[in-house]
Amino acid sequence: MVTQETYVCQICKETKKQHEVVPAASIHESIGEVIRKEYPSWSREGYICHADLNRFRAHYVREILEKEKDELSTLEEKIAQSMKNMNIRQKISISNLTAS
Ligand SMILES: [Zn+2]
Repeated sequence: MVTQETYVCQICKETKKQHEVVPAASIHESIGEVIRKEYPSWSREGYICHADLNRFRAHYVREILEKEKDELSTLEEKIAQSMKNMNIRQKISISNLTAS
């Protein structure tokens, strides 16, 4: 008889077989942080099932994309602002030329 070890997923609390879980210790720390935000009791010693891990991984990727989007729009604003300033400066120098 083969005794199959079971593992409890820390997130959904379901009992899983070994091939259905991943040791928490092997998960990247930045994904661990995302998990901890939702599950503060998340421990590095436990396990997480693939379904839950994929969910958090997708969440993590979305957060990165949003952050990059924010940075990009700040950059766009800066560019627009400096172009505006450039136009004003050009206009001033042109009006100086026509005035003299
Ligand atoms: Zn789970």
